[in-house]
Amino acid sequence: MSYIKDSLYGFVIGDAMGVPVEFQSRDTLRKNPVTDMIGYGSYFYIPEGVWSDDSALTLATMDSINKCGKIDYKDMMDRFCNWERHGEYTGNGEVFDIGITTKYALRRYMDEHLDSLACGGDGIGENGNGSLMRMLPIALYCFQKKIDDAEILDIVKNTSSLTHAHEQSVLGCFIYVQFVIFLLNGSSLEDAYSRIQKLNYSMFLDETVAVYQRILQDDIFHFDLNSIHSGGYIVHTLEAVLWTIFHTHNYSDAILTSVNLGDDTDTVAAITGSIAGILYGYDSIPVSWIEKLKNKELLNNIIYEFDK
Ligand SMILES: [Mg+2]
Repeated sequence: MSYIKDSLYGFVIGDAMGVPVEFQSRDTLRKNPVTDMIGYGSYFYIPEGVWSDDSALTLATMDSINKCGKIDYKDMMDRFCNWERHGEYTGNGEVFDIGITTKYALRRYMDEHLDSLACGGDGIGENGNGSLMRMLPIALYCFQKKIDDAEILDIVKNTSSLTHAHEQSVLGCFIYVQFVIFLLNGSSLEDAYSRIQKLNYSMFLDETVAVYQRILQDDIFHFDLNSIHSGGYIVHTLEAVLWTIFHTHNYSDAILTSVNLGDDTDTVAAITGSIAGILYGYDSIPVSWIEKLKNKELLNNIIYEFDK
C-alpha cells in the first residue's frame, strides 16, 4: 500500500536532510538556512543523501517484523546490535551516530546478556527521542493488523523499552503512534490531533501526562516559534514535529522548516517527514532529493516485504 512508501520515504529523506546540520543552532540556520539536500556538514565525511541512526533503527524494526511475521522484541534487539556492530541498515555502511541511552541499552543486552525488555534506561534523564525515532513501523504494523488500543499500548511500551523504558518515553511514542494511525484511517490533520487529545491516558501517571500538556491540552500550534524547542528531549521533539506539521502545507516546506529549527535536526525532520509523507504522498517529495538518497535498494526491499 502506498502509505508505507509515503511515510517511510518521507521519514528517511527528512533524516538525510537533517544530518548535515545536526546540532547547529536555530540562529546559525536563520542566517544560512538549509534549502536543499547537502552533504559534508556536521559529519564532515558524510556525503549527501545518507541517513542516520533514526532511519537505520526504523529499518531494522521493519525488517524484524518482515522476517518474523510478528513483533519479536529479541529479534529487534539483535538487529539493533547488528546495526551498531556491523553497519547493517545504513545508507553507506557506516555507523556515525548513536544516542547515549540506546548505546547503554545495547551494552546491557550484548555484554550483560539481560533480557531484551530489561535493557532500556528508565531514569527521568533518559527521555531522549531515541525510541520515538524508531516508532513508525509500529504505527504501520498496528494499523495494518487493526490492533486495538490496549494492545497498541502494550507493543509501544515494550518496543520503546528496548532502549527507553521511562514512562515519558512510552507516552510520547504512544501519542505519535496513535496520531499516525488516525491519519492512516483517513482523519484530517485537525481531526487526528483532536482525537489524540481526547484519548484516555489514565493508565499513565498524572505527572507523566502533565509534561505533554502543551500537546494534549493547549493546542501546540498556537504557541510562538520561540517557545518550540527542537533538541533531543522527547517532549520537545514531539512538540516541534506537530508544530511544524500545522504550520506548513507541503512536504518540502515541512522538511525545510523542521530542519531549520536547528539542534536535533535529523530526528525532528525524520519524524515530521513521516507525517508529511502520509499527508502529501511520495509524489510530493522533490525528485532531486530522492535521486540523491543513498541505498534506496535496501529501503525499497524493506518496503516491498512489509507490504506483502
Ligand atoms: Mg540521527
